[in-house]
Amino acid sequence: MSEKTKILVVDDEKVVRDGCRRVLTGKGYEVIPAENGQSAIDVMAKQSVDMILLDLKMPVMGGEEVLEFTGKNHPDIPIIIITGHGTVDTAVECMKKGAYDFITKPFQIDQFLLTVTRAAEKRSLEQRAKQFEEENVRNLYDLNLEKSRLKTMINCMGNGVMVTNRNLEVVLHNPALMRLMEISKAVQNPFHITEILNDESLIATLKQIQAGESADAEYISQEINTGRNFLRAISAPASGPDGSIVGTVTVLEDVTAFKQLDRMKTDFVNMVAHELRSPLAAIKQQNCVLLDGLCGPLEEKQCVMLGRGSKKIDALLDLINDLLEVAKIEAGKYVQHQVPTDVGRIIKETVSLMQASATEKGVALSFFLENLKQIQADPKRIQEIFNNLITNAVNYSPDGGKVTVTARGLGEYMEIKVQDTGVGIAPEEIPKIFDKFYRVKHPKTRKIMGTGLGLAIVKGVVEAHHGTIDVESQVDKGTTFRVLLPVIQQAACD
Ligand code: ADP
Repeated sequence: MSEKTKILVVDDEKVVRDGCRRVLTGKGYEVIPAENGQSAIDVMAKQSVDMILLDLKMPVMGGEEVLEFTGKNHPDIPIIIITGHGTVDTAVECMKKGAYDFITKPFQIDQFLLTVTRAAEKRSLEQRAKQFEEENVRNLYDLNLEKSRLKTMINCMGNGVMVTNRNLEVVLHNPALMRLMEISKAVQNPFHITEILNDESLIATLKQIQAGESADAEYISQEINTGRNFLRAISAPASGPDGSIVGTVTVLEDVTAFKQLDRMKTDFVNMVAHELRSPLAAIKQQNCVLLDGLCGPLEEKQCVMLGRGSKKIDALLDLINDLLEVAKIEAGKYVQHQVPTDVGRIIKETVSLMQASATEKGVALSFFLENLKQIQADPKRIQEIFNNLITNAVNYSPDGGKVTVTARGLGEYMEIKVQDTGVGIAPEEIPKIFDKFYRVKHPKTRKIMGTGLGLAIVKGVVEAHHGTIDVESQVDKGTTFRVLLPVIQQAACD
């Protein structure tokens, strides 16, 4: 595993060199002999040694000169002086000059080996200590380098970074955060989050993360407004070494430009939709005049063609109306006239309006009303909820299907369910069906016309009335949409 300890034996007496070689090689050391000081220095110039056994009196160059040379050039090599009884004093002097120990000739083997072993241990301990120190210095250097790299990266990021501790104090932030928060004064970490942020929803999110209430979501994404800027804030828990939550990390991205683009797109769609609606309505009107024979009798084929054209115009007008509704919902201008509203009456009216088309499709449409209560709502918009949900339920049900609409008062809410026995919706599609323009691609529903805007409108209307909507579905069994709308307290009707 480790290399052998190399011992340089410097003695002019061959018998000593040979004796040392024999004893030390037998103990696993590697021995390099040198017959005088100069040869020893030559050896050290060519290779490293771990220990020197050094005679003092030698021709050409004596031990004291080697000691001096080693002290200057290799101070960490332990040197054991080999001395006769007559030169013990000199050996002691040598120890003062840096020699590790001395042994007297003739050697007591045990004593000799003990001294060599101790010197070898000292050498190895010193080398390990040196290694540790070097590693330590390297690690510290790496750590500092890593820290400064990380700091540079965070400071150069265009997105804001904010790390808080459990007391909601900001313990790390970057310049981008201050820029996005529109804060010009310099702030020293740590400082309470409310010094730079007054968005209650984000503060609530961070509290929720700290309380470990967001365990199933890895991060929470939300939009906040800081005045001039719209920011997307993505927050996640910061975990300690034992996995406990020690704070939060939030990355904030400026989405103001996207919001402006979105607004421009909505305005554009709005404008186009408005511009298209009047001429289309006029064309439809003229088609009706023609079909009614008010401009003279028409051939059967002409009637068929005009009828097809009218249907296409109706589909286009539906699309335009949906687009305008979505634009209104997004602009927050959708629900403007709220009055005490009787949901039961709206359901009865809507069902009776749709009865004919349901029957035509072979779908049985019925409703049940129970414990009805009034809601504060815009009746026209509420009708739109039922229009869309019942139309979908009828459309996505096969011949012989059943659609049931139920409404009942449940404490502070009216619960409205539109239940069908239709094609159902696959679990992976459910989160997407409320998105604008999203339509499930399914061979069975390929021929059903639609814009993919209906459920986006329904969700918008429900939320504008402070309600909720959810859906349960099983493929090929059916779907139930469940809407909860808050009732007017203590204003019951039957
Ligand atoms: P569309 O105009 O396509 O009906 P919607 O927004 O109303 O648009 O619905 C989105 C999609 O959700 C539909 O394309 C359809 O695939 C699915 N969907 C909606 N209601 C039902 C239902 N009752 N049964 C099965 N699928 C439905």
